Amino acid sequence: MATAASAPPTAPPPPPRAQLIHIEVDRRLGHEWDEWNGRPLPAGGDFSAPPVLFFRFAGLTLAGLAGATALLLYIVAPRLAALAPALPAISWIALGAAAALAWLWFGLAVLSFYSGTNLLPERLLERGPYLRLMNYTSALSRAFGKRDWVEHAAIDVYNTLAVRRGRKVGKGELLVLIPRCLSKQALDGVLAIAGRYEVPVFVATRGQLARRVIRERRPRAVVAVACERDMMTGLRDVAGKLPVLGLTMQLPNGPCRDAALDLAQMEQWVRGWVGAGAGASPQ
Ligand code: SF4
Repeated sequence: MATAASAPPTAPPPPPRAQLIHIEVDRRLGHEWDEWNGRPLPAGGDFSAPPVLFFRFAGLTLAGLAGATALLLYIVAPRLAALAPALPAISWIALGAAAALAWLWFGLAVLSFYSGTNLLPERLLERGPYLRLMNYTSALSRAFGKRDWVEHAAIDVYNTLAVRRGRKVGKGELLVLIPRCLSKQALDGVLAIAGRYEVPVFVATRGQLARRVIRERRPRAVVAVACERDMMTGLRDVAGKLPVLGLTMQLPNGPCRDAALDLAQMEQWVRGWVGAGAGASPQ
């Protein structure tokens, strides 16, 4: 009887290999834009908004902070009374006084902006409590989906108050900080202005780097360019220590690429700081 020839042993299938997927990125997002969904930004990435938008949200922020503190105090009042019977009353009076002071300051800030005269010194206004209010207000505006517009308005108010101080510095004492996302046209424009007024320009790829440049160069004033989101953290970290003007950009192709800016505004600020006589007039 014929026996069936045994089949040659088949080689075991190769082990599955992980597939390597190359993702071509045409931009590197700053962490502020991590949650961007890839869709075009509203209004071509121009977040211009009137100052009153900031003041409305800032008022809401102050009211919210006072309300949250009052609620907390209401909850802990029985425990405070157990410690000392007078403590709740003292706490309520302190809260009332703090709220009255905050609203008085806010009223003076609004009046300063609209009257054209800064009614408080810079340490008590744009380089002091205003920076903190800007950041709290930004946090609240996120809940309403209005972050970029409110931040834009807040930065405009800040710049208006800061420009009015009429500060002057030497050419070598001013620093221009730009982000990596400027379009070629915007970059050429910035370099031309910096050349005309003989001020150094630094490209700061991250906020951390910007702060390092400032630490090492020790300028007496800074003109910084960034989107609203990056500018908020930059102002929060630097403007309390150093006079800064913050120029926001338009992002027609989405965040972190091909950003455009108002070169005339930048030139006006640089000229204002290093002196009207510096530099030749633009062609
Ligand atoms: S400044 Fe430019 S690179 Fe930096 S987070 Fe904003 S859009 Fe992106």
